[in-house]
Amino acid sequence: MNDFEKLAQLLFPDISATTQDYADKYPPRPLPEGARVTRFAPSPTGFMHMGNLFPAYVSKLTADATGGVFYLRIEDTDKKREVKNGVQAILEGLQAFDILPDEGAAGEESETGDYGPYRQSRRRDIYRCFAKELVKNGLAYPCFCSEEDLDELRSKQEEQTVNKGYYGQWAPCRNLSFAEQKEAVRSGKTFVVRLRSPGDENRRIVFEDMIKGKIEMPENIMDIVLLKTDGLPTYHFAHAVDDHLMHTTHVIRGDEWIASVPVHIQLFKVCGFKVPKYAHVSPLMKDEEDGGRRKLSKRRDPEAAVSYFIQEGYPKQSVLEYLLTLINSNFEEWRRANRQAPLSSFPFNLKKMSASGALFDLVKLNDVSKNLVSQMSAAEVFEAALNWAEKYDETLFALFSKDPEYAENILSIDRGNKKPRKDIAKWSEIKDYTEYFYDELYAPSFDLPENILPADAAAILEAYLKVFDTADSREVWFEKIKDLCPKLGYTPNVKEYKDTPEKFKGHVGDVTTVIRIALTSRQNSPDLHAIMNLLGQQRCAERMQTAFEFFKSVNN
Ligand code: GLU
Repeated sequence: MNDFEKLAQLLFPDISATTQDYADKYPPRPLPEGARVTRFAPSPTGFMHMGNLFPAYVSKLTADATGGVFYLRIEDTDKKREVKNGVQAILEGLQAFDILPDEGAAGEESETGDYGPYRQSRRRDIYRCFAKELVKNGLAYPCFCSEEDLDELRSKQEEQTVNKGYYGQWAPCRNLSFAEQKEAVRSGKTFVVRLRSPGDENRRIVFEDMIKGKIEMPENIMDIVLLKTDGLPTYHFAHAVDDHLMHTTHVIRGDEWIASVPVHIQLFKVCGFKVPKYAHVSPLMKDEEDGGRRKLSKRRDPEAAVSYFIQEGYPKQSVLEYLLTLINSNFEEWRRANRQAPLSSFPFNLKKMSASGALFDLVKLNDVSKNLVSQMSAAEVFEAALNWAEKYDETLFALFSKDPEYAENILSIDRGNKKPRKDIAKWSEIKDYTEYFYDELYAPSFDLPENILPADAAAILEAYLKVFDTADSREVWFEKIKDLCPKLGYTPNVKEYKDTPEKFKGHVGDVTTVIRIALTSRQNSPDLHAIMNLLGQQRCAERMQTAFEFFKSVNN
């Protein structure tokens, strides 16, 4: 046994498995040529940022487009950052938007797939085995420096204005003899395991990022920590071992990781692993009021949280469609040409992703969503809204559950025709949208447009109350309203009004507006005939009577 081998045995007496054992346990995946294996590898911090969901979706699309595998790995070696139920929060975020992993962590405890465990905290021995192998080959070493030693090192580096860090001549434990190492271990000194970096500060690495293109950076020269004093790996080391054993072909992640690529590529090479392909996704951006742009921020923007979209009740399809518009600029064109096609048939292309940060624009998302919701059937909207309300809106849930047929009838208005209304973007808007159909919610307030006087509104309602019948056909209903016009100083003919406005108080549209306000307290609403039909004769009569009295009293 040479000294390196002895050192390996000294540091890891408990590790008997070899890296070959793991290679045998996790053989190459039986996938067709060209299939890409991608992963989402979050830390379970309890908060899922849209900026994480975004690359996760890109990872899934990449795997799906090639018949590959997309898996979920939980990077929980930093115990300080971990929160209770953190995995659940991640899974909920993914599930809410159908970004379902093919394998990996599947619950706070459970998981699926042959390449696990998928939680780094459960892979301790695997990392220790790979660290042992590196030590055995002289590629890693124990570092016994205390925090104070490191502080001292840093101050010296500061004095001499050299790069800070543990490297080359600034790495005192790099060249300890075996006798010294043995002595330190025997005396119970704690240690970390560091990489013996083969980097040279005069050399540069070049790699081809699939989104950003060719990137050149200085080689890593730091003897980075692989195992911490508690024996758990650092993120850098753990992810390299994992991506190797789980056969990740494409590492797709936020571009805040670009700076770490020199370390990562070096680690893969030192360990003898095939270097994966990289695709670094630019952050989602937000327009500033002053015209500038900044990153979507957890602190400042509620929409940075994936949970926001769940709580607001955005249909998952809307969010995915919107994200796709950001992911591939040809998506919208494809969508126009393939209106009914499932999203999975979109020919996604990783290389078509923009290298600069996409603007995350809620107004655009709302438009995408309104469009999509307008295409849904009343039954679908009802079902989805009910599901959402069960968790997030008790009142709406109670109203919808009490009379599903009535709710569906409300949602049917102006739906299923050629030009459906586009007023609903998310389920949290439905209560307001349907409010006047429910006496429990409805709080009348009668605001007239400026061109209609209360006295005229009262006169319109007084006359209409005598003739209306909610059972009338649409034609008869409209005829009756038109019939009222001349007697009240209005014209049934909009064109006539436009030509000679001085002859009238207004036109039939104004008369309808008064009726609409009396019944719904709104100047705009879906089809009034359908609304009246649903409200029924008695409720319409009562509401118009109330409004009539109100306008009359204003007048007096
Ligand atoms: N655990 C890292 C994170 O929280 C993953 C980085 C990577 O995907 O390599 O973002």
